[in-house]
Amino acid sequence: MAQKYYQKEIETMPVEEMKKLQSEKLVKQVKHVYDNVEYYRNLMDEKGVKPEDIKGIDDLYKLPFLSKADLRDAYPYGLLAKPLSECVRIQSTSGTTGRRVVAFYTQHDVDLWEDCCARAIVAAGGTKEDVCQVAYGYGLFTGGPGLNGGSHKVGCLTLPMSSGNTERQIQFMTDLKATILCCTPSYAAYIGESLKEQGYKPEDIPLKAGIFGAEPWTEEMRQSIQNTLGIKAYDIYGLTETSGPGVSFECSEQTGMHVNEDHFIAEIIDPDTGEVLPEGSKGELVFTSLDKEAFPLLRYRTRDICVLSRKKCSCGRTLIKMAKPMGRTDDMLIIRGVNVFPSQIETVLLKEGYEPNYQIVVDRVNNNDTFEVNVEMTADQFTDKVGDILSMEKSLAEAMKTMLGINPKVHLVAPKSIARSEGKAVRVIDKRKLI
Ligand code: ADP
Ligand code: ZN
Repeated sequence: MAQKYYQKEIETMPVEEMKKLQSEKLVKQVKHVYDNVEYYRNLMDEKGVKPEDIKGIDDLYKLPFLSKADLRDAYPYGLLAKPLSECVRIQSTSGTTGRRVVAFYTQHDVDLWEDCCARAIVAAGGTKEDVCQVAYGYGLFTGGPGLNGGSHKVGCLTLPMSSGNTERQIQFMTDLKATILCCTPSYAAYIGESLKEQGYKPEDIPLKAGIFGAEPWTEEMRQSIQNTLGIKAYDIYGLTETSGPGVSFECSEQTGMHVNEDHFIAEIIDPDTGEVLPEGSKGELVFTSLDKEAFPLLRYRTRDICVLSRKKCSCGRTLIKMAKPMGRTDDMLIIRGVNVFPSQIETVLLKEGYEPNYQIVVDRVNNNDTFEVNVEMTADQFTDKVGDILSMEKSLAEAMKTMLGINPKVHLVAPKSIARSEGKAVRVIDKRKLI
């Protein structure tokens, strides 16, 4: 029988005990940061908070926030809390929002990060019998190294493919009978599409599970990937600033990701006021890392919009769960005054029978926002009859209007005309920002 937990005692620890553990770690961590990171010490001093004021997690709200702007200010070494001679690794963000951030790791930090990824792999049913194909990018991006380390810890036979070269991915997957695939959901969809084109049916594909994250993806996208690859698709979340993937991971219930609370405290705040919101409220996700030595961020604002829940989980884990982040505050487009997340468009597309191959183009013409969505037809949907295309476009635009409240101009384009992603998909071209 598959091993159910990687670190059972932690993953199923009673909530009160976990809070006690977090409190103890927080007191020590605040002192570590105050003593070693001048940048954060200044922020605490400005706020009039001393390490002695933090006696446990109930005092967390007293600490100042850190934001991506602080990371940029302090680049490259300003938030380092250990001498460089004790650091063994640097990773960097993928720069999705244009600004790269570097993070540092001691060997201890790498070790705990890999444990977090190992928990995710075991929760997805992974054991030492599995062949784990890691098709996240390797290098500065955290996806490849994180899952690679986790896979080793579980004892899987690890296939360090990195992203790209889809032909080779498929060849290794089928020749070596990979059972677990780790990559971004958009790349999983692309690999699935390529397998289908080569005549593979879900039952011919050796995979049983996928661990997909690093970008937002909808429930509809999950269903579509699961059906094409004949697997269970699990979500995994993380960001470079908190080590990388594995801050939270999904279990067999597939209703949100358990946060590795022994290493991270999660909070939800109102992004405008900074006020901490009660469990169940939607807001910006904030993390405090409790064990990281080299790059220990306290109250780091992720800009990811999310909801936390302590609802009991059938898997037996007591770790708090976070919903799928619906996007980042800076992914959110404001078009003609209306908030639009790319994930809402994805939901509509998959419900209407399209594949998740689309691109949103926003521009401003004569002071008015234009809003266009290019959507690929599938090979089955493809037609060159103008009348048919127009009526399909019209009905898709109506479905989007119902979801969003505003009317996009939908363009159906030929199969394969939108570039596929091997890493994080680029869904939005906002030309207004270029002006
Ligand atoms: P960048 O900020 O350049 O993309 P990272 O590679 O560190 O750098 O990406 C972290 C971000 O990726 C998170 O803040 C979040 O917005 C997104 N992300 C990671 N995992 C998920 C996931 N499972 N679902 C939705 N978004 C995710
Ligand atoms: Zn669970």
